[in-house]
Amino acid sequence: MIFDFFITKHECTHKNVPVDVEEAYCPDCGALVKNKWYLVRCACCNIKRKAHIEYSHIKTDTKFCPNCGSTDFYVEELSGINFMDVHYAVFKKVVINQEHQITRQIWVEEECEEQKLLSVKN
Ligand SMILES: [Zn+2]
Ligand SMILES: [Zn+2]
Repeated sequence: MIFDFFITKHECTHKNVPVDVEEAYCPDCGALVKNKWYLVRCACCNIKRKAHIEYSHIKTDTKFCPNCGSTDFYVEELSGINFMDVHYAVFKKVVINQEHQITRQIWVEEECEEQKLLSVKN
């Protein structure tokens, strides 16, 4: 079920979108592409597992967890990448559709309003 999400539905791989930005327009197809980061953890003992993306599927580098020997794992989506996780995290380029973009902008504006109100109160 989780893995359906990782199946690429677009033919463009957006390989020219830099990975060190949060999001950018793909120079090859014009889509707004967001770099999403994921962390793979052992389902049994919860430690971070090293992983990579193979044919749009997340796979752990080793079959068994080095800590508990389990083969089960789950994928956690990160809101951003920090250097502590960079050796474990895998990323995927995800196309953001226009709807999501609009929703997000409205939300950000509302948050700003709220911050203004708070600073007035203070
Ligand atoms: Zn593209
Ligand atoms: Zn484990």
